Amino acid sequence: KAKEAGRARMTLYDPAMDADREERNALELDLRQAIEGGDLTLAYQPLIGADSNEMVGVEALVRWNRPGHGPVSPDVFIPVAETSGLIEALGLFVLRKACETAKQWPELKIAVNVSPGQFRNPAFTDYVRYVLRQTEIEAKRVTLEVTEGYMIQNPKRTRQSIEQLKTLGVKIALDDFGSGFSSIGYLRQFGFDRIKIDRSLIMDIEHSESQREMLKATVALASSLDIPVTAEGIETPEQADIASQFGCDTLQGFFFSKPVSADDITERLMEARARKAGGRRVNAA
Ligand code: C2E
Ligand code: MG
Ligand code: MG
Ligand code: MG
Repeated sequence: KAKEAGRARMTLYDPAMDADREERNALELDLRQAIEGGDLTLAYQPLIGADSNEMVGVEALVRWNRPGHGPVSPDVFIPVAETSGLIEALGLFVLRKACETAKQWPELKIAVNVSPGQFRNPAFTDYVRYVLRQTEIEAKRVTLEVTEGYMIQNPKRTRQSIEQLKTLGVKIALDDFGSGFSSIGYLRQFGFDRIKIDRSLIMDIEHSESQREMLKATVALASSLDIPVTAEGIETPEQADIASQFGCDTLQGFFFSKPVSADDITERLMEARARKAGGRRVNAA
């Protein structure tokens, strides 16, 4: 019997799986160290007002330069953080750092991504309240971006969390809309303040009539519910024109700017201020 069991185990043994597991454990260990050692940083991607063509806000995006490996995408390490109990510490770091940094940009809104693991935590509202108080940022300048995956599984809990968070004065945006199972029904029931249309819906709008129709219909529906829409992943001037024509009030993407450092944002803001001041002087003259 024991021998048989042993043989069964042998046949299941897969060295590649061990290698994967080892690599994952190593990644997790390094990530833990990065969080504890304060080695994560934030990049900020400008959000552009469709009418003003001015930067109206920024989205904070976490960055990790893994020692000996180079930059790792958040699409890779956020899921690891989620399953290894690191997401709370990571999320708290991002929220605090983003709010602290945004204080020097009073004219900008600040968007912060929140992952399901944070959202699921019953204490999440408490720690958002705590960070708001600690950093003394105006709550209405802060938008929390959530994706729909978790909400579909826990609609009741999600509604409660969103309600609680909104009493703090922060805004809630539905991120990556159109990338998964999204249905407009969710928009109504959860009370989102904004939706962000996923890059996959933007990608082909200048070439594909059906993609254009899809975007148009989505924005029209959101508008009928009085929910403003951001278009993500704008890479060409044509895409920017179409998205704003269809009613997206905010645009984001490499066409305007890649995610950049806080110092770069500060610099652009100073240029914008100088431009405005200069404009006024010209008008007065
Ligand atoms: P997201 O929240 O939808 O963020 C937008 C992602 O698209 C960013 O990738 C951004 O760099 C990229 N992007 C923006 N404009 C363009 C464009 O024109 N073309 C293309 N090809 N890409 C564009 P990034 O920074 O790699 O982040 C990927 C995802 O990881 C984010 O998607 C978000 O879901 C997650 N993430 C990033 N930072 C955080 C964080 O601090 N906390 C949590 N929980 N998740 C985060
Ligand atoms: Mg986002
Ligand atoms: Mg997105
Ligand atoms: Mg995304």
